[in-house]
Amino acid sequence: MSRRPLVAGNWKMHKTVADAVRLIEDLRKAALPANVEVAVCPPFTALADSARALAGSTIALGAQNMFWEAQGAFTGEISAPMLVAAGCRYVILGHSERRQFFAETDASVARKIRTAYAHDLVPILCVGERLKEREAGRTDHVISEQTEAATAELSGEQVRTLVVAYEPVWAIGTGRSATGEEANRVIGLIRRVLGGRTGDASAQTRILYGGSVTPDNAAEFFGQPEIDGGLIGGASLDASKFTAIVRAAR
Ligand code: PEP
Repeated sequence: MSRRPLVAGNWKMHKTVADAVRLIEDLRKAALPANVEVAVCPPFTALADSARALAGSTIALGAQNMFWEAQGAFTGEISAPMLVAAGCRYVILGHSERRQFFAETDASVARKIRTAYAHDLVPILCVGERLKEREAGRTDHVISEQTEAATAELSGEQVRTLVVAYEPVWAIGTGRSATGEEANRVIGLIRRVLGGRTGDASAQTRILYGGSVTPDNAAEFFGQPEIDGGLIGGASLDASKFTAIVRAAR
């Protein structure tokens, strides 16, 4: 079963509403390959205007986080129904910056993932080991544990539509990426972990690589058999760099 590549831009805490709309307009002008799905994940404040700017295009909209409750007294939080109403299809969950700076845990990520499915949002689950864990030879253990914990209660059908991003923490925003071969190996491990519970559903799960992907190294990752595209941070803020990365996934 072939998996349609996905390249998603994680804009993090960048871009005002006007900046976001301008970037989307630039992306819309670029000739993007039809066989690659493209998504952009602007900050919350720019979601609704981004959805309007994307109307009629094939580029999908995603958010960078959400809370697990649908509504209530949770000051500062954003819910799944709010994201759906703003036009989102995807939501990034468990990004290492959320885990590192905002006390996100495997348990909270699992809860948010279940909520995303309950509201027909497609989660982009991020997993990744820290440098210390890699140096201690614990990469496979950490990745297996994060993957298991986040997906333990998902059905086969949900695993089929899930998107996972393998993002080694030491490679995010550092200019230091994994090798294509190593990323492919770890992504193969993630697929086996998912398959351990849900059998062949995981053959359809799209698993992306993320961590300092650039137009220069994208082909090295996207040419690997287990890698189904990328989650792109820094390079997604620039239309020409992001477009070049999307084209490398063709
Ligand atoms: C990310 O934050 O998801 C990411 C991959 O960032 P960068 O591409 O900047 O390393």
